Amino acid sequence: MKQSTLFSQLEAEAAACLICERMRERQAVLSPLNGTLTPKVMFIAEAPGRNGADRTRIPFHGDASGTTFEKLLASIKLTRAEIFITNTVLCSPRKPSGANDKPTRGEIRNCSHFLHRTIEVINPPVIATLGAVALEALKLIAPHDYTLKESAAQLLNWNGRKLVPLYHPSPQVLITARPLIQQLNDIKVLGREIKRQKAKGKS
Ligand code: SF4
Repeated sequence: MKQSTLFSQLEAEAAACLICERMRERQAVLSPLNGTLTPKVMFIAEAPGRNGADRTRIPFHGDASGTTFEKLLASIKLTRAEIFITNTVLCSPRKPSGANDKPTRGEIRNCSHFLHRTIEVINPPVIATLGAVALEALKLIAPHDYTLKESAAQLLNWNGRKLVPLYHPSPQVLITARPLIQQLNDIKVLGREIKRQKAKGKS
């Protein structure tokens, strides 16, 4: 079956999915707005944010995390037209107050078949996780022992693919765990791998 047909099927299934109780009013963020089906890299983050993807339908666009993400992309001369972005959960998890919340383990488990199938359909040459939640979620697809603290900004192997774990570009992470200057340095590893893949393709 054609890649675009498989992706449209996934999109339709995700749009109709009501498994997670507190996300029933939310719409899954999975559509052509997530990026190209032939990306240089597939990014996996935590969840659509209230002011970002849940509002704009474009992952990492419209909020502070998105602004930082766009700076990181530009620093390695990547454009949105060259990437695909998804999340460990496709719908936006909210606190009763309406504020963003972390997805629960159960919600991540519920959604992991969508993540698994998205990776299979897109078949990216390299995956970059953004934050510990995304790195951990990959274990539901194929086991690994990587932790963000020990493996950040390294080129690793996972499930027959190249993997670069990165920190999440949220304002809180920039303040408490990984400042922008370090994140700009981290993403260079991804930039080098993309260049290497390009050179390999030409040789
Ligand atoms: S987060 Fe994923 S599993 Fe949960 S309702 Fe949305 S699409 Fe379905």
